[in-house]
Order: sequence, then structure tokens, then C-alpha cells
Amino acid sequence: MVQLIRGFKDILPGEVELWQHIEKTAVSLFEDFGFKELRLPILERTELFARSIGEDTDIVEKEMYTFPDRKGDLITLRPEVTASVVRSYIQHKLFAKDPIRKFYTIGPMFRRERPQKGRYRQFYQINAEVFGIDSPFIDAQLIFMLVTLFARLSVTDTQVHINSLGCPACLPKFKEALSDLLSSVSGKLCSDCIRRSKGNPLRALDCKVPSCGDAMSGAPSMLDYLCAKCSHHFEAVEDSLERFNTPFVIDRRLVRGLDYYTRTTFEIQTPFLGAQNAVAGGGRYDGLVKALGGPDTPATGFAIGFDRLAEITTLNNSDFEKNPDIFVAALGEQSISKAFEWVCDLSLKGIYAEMDFGNKSLKSQMKRADKLGAAYVLIVGEKELEKGSAALRNMTTKEQVLISTDGIVENVKEKIFHIKE
Ligand code: AMP
Repeated sequence: MVQLIRGFKDILPGEVELWQHIEKTAVSLFEDFGFKELRLPILERTELFARSIGEDTDIVEKEMYTFPDRKGDLITLRPEVTASVVRSYIQHKLFAKDPIRKFYTIGPMFRRERPQKGRYRQFYQINAEVFGIDSPFIDAQLIFMLVTLFARLSVTDTQVHINSLGCPACLPKFKEALSDLLSSVSGKLCSDCIRRSKGNPLRALDCKVPSCGDAMSGAPSMLDYLCAKCSHHFEAVEDSLERFNTPFVIDRRLVRGLDYYTRTTFEIQTPFLGAQNAVAGGGRYDGLVKALGGPDTPATGFAIGFDRLAEITTLNNSDFEKNPDIFVAALGEQSISKAFEWVCDLSLKGIYAEMDFGNKSLKSQMKRADKLGAAYVLIVGEKELEKGSAALRNMTTKEQVLISTDGIVENVKEKIFHIKE
């Protein structure tokens, strides 16, 4: 038997209902905040990710599923979606009508990391991105929206971590200081950190090798290097979060694994997933639209790890599983044929109806109705059919009443839902 690829998974009924609930809750909240959905392709040109995420990040260096297509063009299964959203914003000149745009996307991402709890090679993200607003209010609003979503989904014990990565005016000085620190502890660093310590020292701060973390315990923080404008921006984010009663911690080491971030960066962390403690992350990327060939446009956004969110919510899938409203148990050829019509009609009227097509005994059909958790069973045999009636049984109270088969859908609706049309 051909099995799943390692790090990939199927999301089956019994689990998918919770995913659907999460998705609906997110969409409804995001749309109330003015976000519109974007549906984007999963394959993009490799160059898009190399140029945006950064050539010497772990994602681009080690984790992308990249391959030449039949014509030899290098293409990549998207490891994240911000780059694609920016590409789409530029390609379709979405800024022309209104430079301020808010988008959300939901879909799979691919990274060839070592699979473990909370870390998969195909995983799902819910993303939100805002273009054209540089106000710190929007950064705070995004964090507030995230925290609200988590509360609506009964996620407990999460912590908001925030930091600032400055701008092209103040970041280079910090990089210099960090680079100096890295040179002074180079004997204790992994080969990646040594290599990156000159060109891209920030990457050392999110290195996953524990000894590198220890060696950098005395690393400087970008917060001590912010220029006046960035410092002001960051303080305004803090003030706005306080105004919304959104608790947060300032995390001086938070840099995130992608090169395009500027100013505010944030993560929502959870203690429930072991080493994979980030359930969402995001921040500003004010330079990316321009870097990818678009107009100079400030932007900010976040990505939620859908799989991780589904793992840490205290909601249960069983809360969202649907059982049939009614099971039609028909005995004899003619009744089965009639039941088939009724089940179709009931389903069309929004009543979840099931039947057994196999001409089985009443006992076996009742067993199946029970197994499916049907709320009611409609029992009809040839004799009842001739008399124009069927028995409607409440499976909880075991009460049974006769109803007329004339206008059966309306009769069922009236009895089950007390709806009279
Ligand atoms: P990133 O794009 O790396 O900032 O990731 C954003 C969010 O996606 C993280 O906070 C995680 O919740 C989730 N995520 C990232 N990588 C994985 C993975 N390999 N498996 C599951 N979730 C992931």
C-alpha cells in the first residue's frame, strides 16, 4: 500500500469539523475588520521566495521544496504566503484603486523541516496582511485581532511577544554590534552562524542550535539601537495594546526567521507544543513591496499556524460534528423508493437526512440510525404507505407518533423543529 509522505497528513472527518469551525470563526472576524480573501497559487517561481525571505535564511537554504518543471524553470512549493500576496498586489496593481488594502488567505505551506509534534512538512496557515498603512495603530490592531480570535476559539495560556527590528536607518548599527559579539564568541557557534555572522548576523538570533543560544546570551538588542522614529512607533504600539487591555511581553531577542521584517515584530507563544512554541507570528515589512518591484508601500501582517491552533484550542471536535436530524427506515421496495424521494426533499430543505438503501430488516436499520446518532427515525412499511402514514420516532424520548405522508417534508419539519410553513 502506498503511504503518506513523511511530515504530511490527512485531516479526516472527526478532526475536520474543528478545522472548519476555526476557519469560519477567523473569516467572520477578519471580514468584520475589513479584510478580503485572496486565493493564491501554491507554486511560485523560486526567485520570489529567495528575494523576499532572504537567500541565507533556514527556509530558503534548507527547507524549500524546489524543483525544475519540465521546461527547466525553477519552481517552489510556497513555504509562506506573504511573498505571494505582495507579488499579487504588485502584479495586479491592486494599489491603483486604493493603496490601502487588507487581505487574508488560508491554505497549505511546505517546508522540509524535521517533522515532530507541531511541525509538519505540509502545514496550514491563516494569514492577514495590510498594505498602505504605516500607523502603529494597525500593528496593535492586528495583534488585538489575533488575541480576539484566540479567545473566541477558547485558546488559553498564550502570551504575546513583541519587539522592533527598526528600519534601514537604524538596523545597520545594530547589525554591526551583533556581528562584533558573534565574532567574539565564534568558537561556540555552529557553522551556519559563523558563516552568517558577517552578512546577516540577525539570523544567528533565531538559530535553533541550543549552544548558539547560550553563546549569544549577552547579545545586544535592537531596542537599544532604534532611531527616534522607530522608537516612537514602537512605544505607540505598546500604548495601543495597553489601551485594548492586551497583555504582552517585550522580547528583546525576537527576530523571526525571515529577512523582510522591519519595525514591529510579534509572536503568540504557547507552552503546549514543546519546542514549537509559536502559534502565530508576524510584523511589519515596510520595504518588501518596493524590493519586489512595486511602489514604496508600508505593510504589516501575520501568519497563524492552523495545525498548531487546532492542537491547542480547548474546543473539541465533537462539539461541531453533525448527526442526522432524521433517518428514514423503509421496509419493502416501494417504501424504499418513496424514502429515497423524501430523503432528497428533506436534504434540499436543509434537514440532514439519511437512509439505508439495502432493503435491510427494521432492526438493522434502527441499529444504523443509532450508530449515526440520528435524532429521529421515520419508519415506513408497505402497509403504512398504502394508508398514507409513517411513524416518527424520537430517538431520545423513544416516543412515536403517526404522521401523514401527504406533505411529509412539511410534517417532519413541523414535528421536529416546530416550524409551520
Ligand atoms: P513563520 O512563517 O515561520 O513565521 O510561521 C508562522 C506560523 O506558522 C508559526 O508561528 C507556526 O505556528 C506555523 N508554522 C511554521 N512552520 C510550521 C511547521 N513546519 N509546521 C507547523 N506549523 C508551522
